Amino acid sequence: MKSTQTAKFKQNLLDNRRELIEDLMITNENFSNLDHVKVGDLVDQASNFYQKELLIGLSTSEKETLSAIDKALEKINNEMFGQCEACGDTIDEKRLEAIPYTPLCVECKKNNNSNKVRNEGYKV
Ligand SMILES: [Zn+2]
Repeated sequence: MKSTQTAKFKQNLLDNRRELIEDLMITNENFSNLDHVKVGDLVDQASNFYQKELLIGLSTSEKETLSAIDKALEKINNEMFGQCEACGDTIDEKRLEAIPYTPLCVECKKNNNSNKVRNEGYKV
């Protein structure tokens, strides 16, 4: 993928992450008490930030999204962005525009979902 394209996705990912954290700060009392911490600081902090106890209030799906966003950002740095984690194919750009942090191409996502039905708890 061209660096001009990844730059666009990187911006989308950073925007997504900021929105997620901002929502969290609005809804989570632990965060609203931390008035000395600015959203920007949190966003700029280490990517492992979602693992911290402050995020206890985060729902599982929000945690997963945040984790997926961080992974995707890492992939951009490693020039691996846009590759399906399961089959290694290039993920369709339209799919990335809809969900820039998706780790799977459409086909693998489909397979993943059907696996989930057969074997609950299965994750890629
Ligand atoms: Zn795939």
